[in-house]
Amino acid sequence: MTVTRRWVLSSGAALSASMALGEVADAALPVVDMEMVLLAAQVDPPKPDTGLTPGAGAHVIQVERALNAKGLLASGSVDGHYGTSTVSAYAAWQRSLGYTGIDANGIPGSTSLTALGQNRFTVTRPVHTGSRTASYSGLQVNTRTRNMLSATDGMLTWGIVLTQGSYTSADPTSAGTHDGGGVVDIAVTNLTTTQRWQTVKALRTVGFAAWLRNPSQGNWPYHIHAAAVSDPDLSQPARNQIHDYYFGRNGLANHAADDTPTAYRTPFTWWEKYQRG
Ligand SMILES: [Zn+2]
Repeated sequence: MTVTRRWVLSSGAALSASMALGEVADAALPVVDMEMVLLAAQVDPPKPDTGLTPGAGAHVIQVERALNAKGLLASGSVDGHYGTSTVSAYAAWQRSLGYTGIDANGIPGSTSLTALGQNRFTVTRPVHTGSRTASYSGLQVNTRTRNMLSATDGMLTWGIVLTQGSYTSADPTSAGTHDGGGVVDIAVTNLTTTQRWQTVKALRTVGFAAWLRNPSQGNWPYHIHAAAVSDPDLSQPARNQIHDYYFGRNGLANHAADDTPTAYRTPFTWWEKYQRG
């Protein structure tokens, strides 16, 4: 075959054009749904077995393969179950990027997940907390939580007033649940019983795990404790509460059945899913 100068020029131009778009390299990579990985990272760790979370296993296993390839996770734990070994391995990955504290909590943020996927997978449905120093009714929350509270407030004819925000370890009765992002306490003293349950339902509708707490359960007045499902900044105790909520329990140390009346329950969801409708 005689390779002409014309052939070399035209095929070379086509090749560089497609490489510039990144289509050749990326088309072969698997796609990891960050929302599904976050779901498993909350639901899986407290499980007594290595059961998978429906819809999440295929995404988790891509993350685990990448952690294994970096020497952070044993091959035997590459199984699609985001258990405590995967949490530890992911935290090690975050620390290797220079993260500390809540940034190395063992569940993905979009930056660390995208970095992990380099040449291995692409990330869809990234979840962002926004600013950590946003506020709602005068207390610190992140932007995602603030937007969720605003949406909840819009469903009610009374206002949402916080008594505790996020990123605080000030309250020892909260067992570390408020140390990270996504978690708030809401005042209910001025609400009727029905209004309290309606507030719980509205919070759950937009993607909070929310429960009405009463004085018989702990050293606290009546209030609503709410944890934003799939907030990447959730502390480990708060993630365990999401596990409880997913399985219809109360998120307290006794893991008793959710005492919310049936009429005020809603299907499990999270903010990004709620917004898609
Ligand atoms: Zn609380």
